Formats: sequence, C-alpha cells, structure tokens
Amino acid sequence: MGKLRIVMLPYLAYGHITPFLELAKKLSNRGFTIDICSSPINLSFIKEKIPEKYSSSIHLIELHLPNLPELPPHHHTTNGLPSHLKQTLFKALKMTKPQFHQILSDKKPDFFIYDIMLLWSAVVASSLNIPSLRFYTVNAAIFSYFFHFYFNPGEEFPFPALYMRDYEQAKMTHEVVDDAEVEVDKDNVTESDKFVLVHSSKSIDGKYMDYLCGTGQAKVVPIGTQSPEDDVGNLDNIDMELLEWLEKKTEHSTVYVSFGSEYFLTKEEMEEVASGLELSGADFIWVVRFQKGEQVELPQGFKERIGERGRIIEGWAPQQRILKHPSIGGFVTHCGWNSTLESIEFGVPIIAMPMLYDQPLNARLMAENGVAVEVPRDENGNLDRVNIAEKIKHVIRDETGENLRKKMNNLGENVRSQREEEMDGVVDVIQLLLDEKKNAT
Ligand code: UDP
Repeated sequence: MGKLRIVMLPYLAYGHITPFLELAKKLSNRGFTIDICSSPINLSFIKEKIPEKYSSSIHLIELHLPNLPELPPHHHTTNGLPSHLKQTLFKALKMTKPQFHQILSDKKPDFFIYDIMLLWSAVVASSLNIPSLRFYTVNAAIFSYFFHFYFNPGEEFPFPALYMRDYEQAKMTHEVVDDAEVEVDKDNVTESDKFVLVHSSKSIDGKYMDYLCGTGQAKVVPIGTQSPEDDVGNLDNIDMELLEWLEKKTEHSTVYVSFGSEYFLTKEEMEEVASGLELSGADFIWVVRFQKGEQVELPQGFKERIGERGRIIEGWAPQQRILKHPSIGGFVTHCGWNSTLESIEFGVPIIAMPMLYDQPLNARLMAENGVAVEVPRDENGNLDRVNIAEKIKHVIRDETGENLRKKMNNLGENVRSQREEEMDGVVDVIQLLLDEKKNAT
C-alpha cells in the first residue's frame, strides 16, 4: 500500500494512549507512517514508549491546550487529574479545534484515526476530505452495551448475565461520554461511519462482535492484542532491585497488585487492601499511588509487619515485566482494559477488584471467559479485607489458580494466533475507506 500517512488523535489518558500507540506500531509494521497528536505532557510519555525501530515511521505532533486557569499544563492529561476537572479537560480539548484544523491542513494525511471520545475531530477531518476511522479503545462487549442503550433504549439487553449487575457502575462511563458531548446522530450514520476499531480479539469477546455486526449498524473490527516484544522502557535501580527480589520467590507464589494509572484508593480502601494482603499470607508487589493534598497513607506499621513478604512501589511499576515473571501467580487488578489484556498475554489469573467506569464489565467478561475470580464487596458495596484475602489464597494456594492459569494460557494462545489476521482486517478497512474516497472524487 506504499507509505501512506495516518494522523492519530487519542484521548489524553494513558489507558487510551497505550492502545493507540499499539495500533500505531502495528500499522507501521504494515508500511504506514504515523503521526500521533497529543499534549506535550502526554507526548513525553509516548516518546519513552516508542522503540527505536519505529523512530522513522512514528512521529509526534504537539497539540497545545489553551491556558485555562483551573487547568495548568501538568493537568493536560487525565493521569493525576482530579475528577472534577475532567469536564474542563474535555472543554479545553474541544477548544483546540482550529489548531487541529491547521495541523491536518499542514500535514495533509491520507487517513485519520481518532478516539471515539473525540468525535469533534472527525468533523474537522471530514471538512478537509480526509477519510477517518474511529477507535474505541476498549472491547466489543462494552461497546455492545453502550450501543444497545443508545440505539435500543428500553429493550432488554441480550446478555443479561454479563451486565445487569453492573449497570449502575457502567452508567458512570455513559455519563462521562455524554458529558463529552458526544452526539450520536442516529439518522445520519453513513456506511463508513459504521466501522469501529476495538482493542480486542475475537477469542475474547467474539460473540459481542457478532452481535454488533448482526445489528447492521456497527461494523466492529478488532485490532488484536499487543505483542510483548515491543515492550520497552528503561529500568532504573528500583525496578532492577524489584525484579531481583522477584527472582528469589517461588513459581506463581506472588501476587501483583495495581489499580491502574488513574484510580486513587480512599483511606478506607487502602486499609482493606493492606489488611487483605496481610491476611492472605501471600507474597506481593503493590503499586500504591497517593494523590497530592489527600491524607491517605498506608496503615501504621504495615511495611514493618510485611518485611520481605512484600514490596511497595510508590508511583509507577514496570507492569509488563512484572506480569511476565514466572514468580507472579495472580494479578489483583482494577480490570482496566490494558491491564486485563496484559494479564491475558502473560497468562496471569485475574483477581478482579474493579472500581469504576468500564472496569466492572471487564471483570465480568473475564469471569465469563473463566480466567478471573471476582472479589465480592460487602453489603454496602465496599471492599472487604476478608474477601480479598480469601480470593488471593484461592488463586495462590489451591487448584483454583491452576485452573484459571490453564484457561488464561489457552486464551493467550488463541489471541496470539489471531493477531496477524485481525490486523489484515484493519488494513482492509482502511483500504476500503481510501478507495471509497477515491471513487467519490
Ligand atoms: N501501568 C504501568 N505501571 C503502573 C501502572 C500502570 O506500566 O504502575 C500501565 C499498565 O501496564 C497499563 C496501563 O498503564 O498498560 C494502565 O491502563 P489500564 O487500562 O489498565 O488502566 P487505567 O490506567 O486506564 O485505569
């Protein structure tokens, strides 16, 4: 297809940027040249993650958000952004529309791929006659849920086992998307608007892809999952020390605990997780994030009581390298979609503790695939130390862990075997949309 040029615009969150970067690498392997457009603070994160071999095919474009007093430049990303400022970030992003118009006019890309949260950018591309494709950075199961509620409100959702329980939680995502002023113009959907890339694979949620395609309204195209050979990033001394510590642990003995890049545990949740880990008796690595200005701390004396049994990482951990390590036997995760896919890739059973947004649905999807146990909350919906400890013990100590691991390894093999074929599908759709444009002019 020659060196066609694609501009990409991800939403400003690591959880969105990571799959965009993944797609950029996959497309660059297929001969495309990619420009990723984002705020400088996000670009510095992206830059670190681009392996040397892509230096001539993946480029970065700075998008400068306006100077709003309540949104200083270090808030030009959702990571560490207080939740009440998310709307302001959306507002600031929309204000870049003229600048983005200029960027596309200058770059004149052949094609544009944008985050479904940033529908306004597709309008800009369309005004310049640049064909585009939307990317929904999570899975088709979640997309089918929102699709159903937009297009068939009031009708029963066809997959009740997966969703009913999590309706309220998922609604929160719905509201965030609504607040982003995503206007779904049901009457003006063209054939090409129906294509949606999703960050998933047929082996994981194929039945939801089939459901969506069967509606005739959404043509879902999975990009497949990430290949770990592209996992880069320099290890500092703390990371090296951590991996050496992990080396001394026995196979599948240790749980990795992380709630992603955006969620901060409350004081009570911090207590429950810490006590749950203590009670479980398992070895662990726990990534702990503290929000500036909040009085949340680890329980008094926790580190001393734990000693060599556990490692606390404050801030950022080399997650993929940790998950890849044979000593890891379980992943206590919030079920952010990237973390979930990484768990699949490295064959690590999931101990699911979803917090918000799409996470409860991701957790259910993984339980449905037989690769996760869900940690029940107490009668008030709060985390509970005893339940946390019990589930960790099941996965680390008894055959539950072995059974989950077998299924996880199978799932990993299946997604790997579909990787190239699924990317063929993505390239075919891009080609189709390019041809459509050519024929129309
Ligand atoms: N991540 C990491 N180190 C950390 C925390 C997160 O490398 O200490 C990475 C993780 O590997 C994943 C991404 O950040 O790729 C988090 O994305 P996810 O969708 O799981 O959760 P979110 O951060 O969006 O809630």
